[in-house]
Amino acid sequence: MSVISVSDLSVRYRVGEQVNIALDQVDLKLEDGERCAVVGRSGAGKSTLILALLGLLEPNAVRAASELRVVDCDLLSGERIAPGRVGVVFQEPAQSLNPVVRVGKQLDQVLRAGGVPNSAERQRRAQQQLSSLGIADVATVLEAYPHQLSGGLAQRVAIAMALVNRPCLLIADEPTAALDPLIRASLLSLLVKESAKRALACLMITHELSIARDFCQSIAVIEGGRIVERGALPAVLEAPRHAHTAALVAADRLHSVWGAATGSDGAR
Ligand code: ADP
Repeated sequence: MSVISVSDLSVRYRVGEQVNIALDQVDLKLEDGERCAVVGRSGAGKSTLILALLGLLEPNAVRAASELRVVDCDLLSGERIAPGRVGVVFQEPAQSLNPVVRVGKQLDQVLRAGGVPNSAERQRRAQQQLSSLGIADVATVLEAYPHQLSGGLAQRVAIAMALVNRPCLLIADEPTAALDPLIRASLLSLLVKESAKRALACLMITHELSIARDFCQSIAVIEGGRIVERGALPAVLEAPRHAHTAALVAADRLHSVWGAATGSDGAR
């Protein structure tokens, strides 16, 4: 079954007299349990794609499509995605967490919105979700405000908020870009483990092909608002068919060589 089914999606932004074409006739399918990386340079249309999939485009966006279905919800006919069906993780935990509410309370609110009526059950689910993401001192984290957590811990909490309602789709926008490389690697492996355990489909925006390779089974390369290449990993990166994919692979190789020569971690 497809958790994302998009055909012919175009999005234009009106800015005064000007019109920016952000997406141009995009087709995209994501199957149950599939983890797909969306890769492309800045301005290619990645964020617009995510916003369109979540039904959260800005008011100055004009959308057209022949199909736009996300987890059984037909966005073209005005349906809204039910709370908890799709988990979303952004680059910065601050984009997901409320700074003035304790973590435990935030998880409780998310679970309540997701339809868990029993308070003891919500507490159990929150604790279980945090510990399955490798958080040792769950009680302290539940009592903490987001600013009291390190960046890596805060991002784990943001991921817990995205997963706690057991969504069938996770949309992640560069979820580890703001973290240092060691924390990034451990968080990504936890995400892989969690998504494999639950057969969770995942659409992950990333600039880094190494993350796509390690985390995803497939890739969609986006350029100028169009998906120019879509296929299985690592096959697409080993034998790119589109010039833009080949350019990304070449840039990534150069970057790795540079990183090895200078001892830098290669974080962009
Ligand atoms: P990416 O996430 O790949 O960097 P975006 O989806 O943010 O790309 O942007 C795609 C194009 O749409 C760019 O040309 C960008 O300037 C334009 N754009 C994005 N958001 C807006 C907006 N709210 N208003 C006007 N133009 C926008």
